Amino acid sequence: MERPFCKYLCPLGAALAMPTTFRWFGLKRKDECTSCKACAKGCGSLAIDAKGNIDQRECMLCLDCMVFYYDDHACPPLAQERKRRTKAGQPLTPINGKGYFIPIHPAPVDKKKEGAAA
Ligand code: SF4
Ligand code: SF4
Repeated sequence: MERPFCKYLCPLGAALAMPTTFRWFGLKRKDECTSCKACAKGCGSLAIDAKGNIDQRECMLCLDCMVFYYDDHACPPLAQERKRRTKAGQPLTPINGKGYFIPIHPAPVDKKKEGAAA
């Protein structure tokens, strides 16, 4: 465990735990986090439970789990999609706020142009 003094003994930490309970922003999670334990294993504060939820009062805001969240080599759903697209010769689009590659939508076919060409 990282920084046990900060977590269990520091009086300032205890005082700050109250407002963090009502933190208006939350660290992001994906549906896959319920079964993937990668971020929980990497969390030195043990703030991520077995279901992948983050206990705001335990979190030290180191943001290590957010690095995983956007890492297309470490985060399994992103890594799988990266491999799938690479194999299919598709581009790797930017990762959106929900932690997934932006979907690829085929360009709409212009029927008028297609008819003129025929
Ligand atoms: S690596 Fe990705 S899917 Fe796994 S817990 Fe972290 S954010 Fe969730
Ligand atoms: S920000 Fe750091 S301490 Fe907080 S849940 Fe993520 S890995 Fe754990």
